[in-house]
Amino acid sequence: MFGSPKSPISSDYVERKGKLIIAITGSPGVGKTTISRLLAERLEARHLDLSRLALEEGLMEEWNGERDTAIVDIEAVKRRVERLLSRYGRLIIEGHYAHDIAPKGSWIFVLRRAPWRLRDELEERGYDAGKVRENVEAELLDVCLSEAIEIHGSERIHEVDTTDKTPQEIVEEIYEVLRGVRPPRIGVVDWLDRPEAKQLLEWLKDVSHR
Ligand code: ADP
Ligand code: MG
Repeated sequence: MFGSPKSPISSDYVERKGKLIIAITGSPGVGKTTISRLLAERLEARHLDLSRLALEEGLMEEWNGERDTAIVDIEAVKRRVERLLSRYGRLIIEGHYAHDIAPKGSWIFVLRRAPWRLRDELEERGYDAGKVRENVEAELLDVCLSEAIEIHGSERIHEVDTTDKTPQEIVEEIYEVLRGVRPPRIGVVDWLDRPEAKQLLEWLKDVSHR
């Protein structure tokens, strides 16, 4: 055989026929909606924002007055998504619990963003202190990643540190993983090991005592 070896077609999820289900997960404010929109264009896929779907279709369990948030009925969202899956060949499901909704065999991309930057983002959004703290803590402690691994195993999970990347760079990275030209990686960040973490932990202690 002559010519350069090609990766087997089975590892190219963009070219191959059949269903492609992609979950974009990560703490609120990491860039999921932005990235999912661009990726959907790139892949000619349908993009489903789970938070919007749950709100628009009233898939809520209860209203948590203390946290001032509605609790999403995960089972109802799962059932709704299952019905949509049969309709679309390529689907991107996006939200901070997308890894929980994604069926087995899906690709899972976990977006990460430095928690001190996330704090600024969420404060700018007007979240109250408790909600900012809760989400910053979740990012600091890898909550979405560990849940995703627990549910799906690590074979088709890739983590992207979005902190200093443009949306285009992030979409390109995801695209390369799906094409099989970049190996999927997890464990790419350790926020607690960064110099900025010390100050952030003090801030967290401070807000929880308020
Ligand atoms: P999520 O859906 O995860 O809550 P969004 O997509 O709404 O996050 O993004 C949160 C904010 O960050 C938005 O203002 C968006 O424009 C901005 N943003 C998203 N991706 C990036 C990026 N790679 N670099 C800088 N800002 C970004
Ligand atoms: Mg969003």
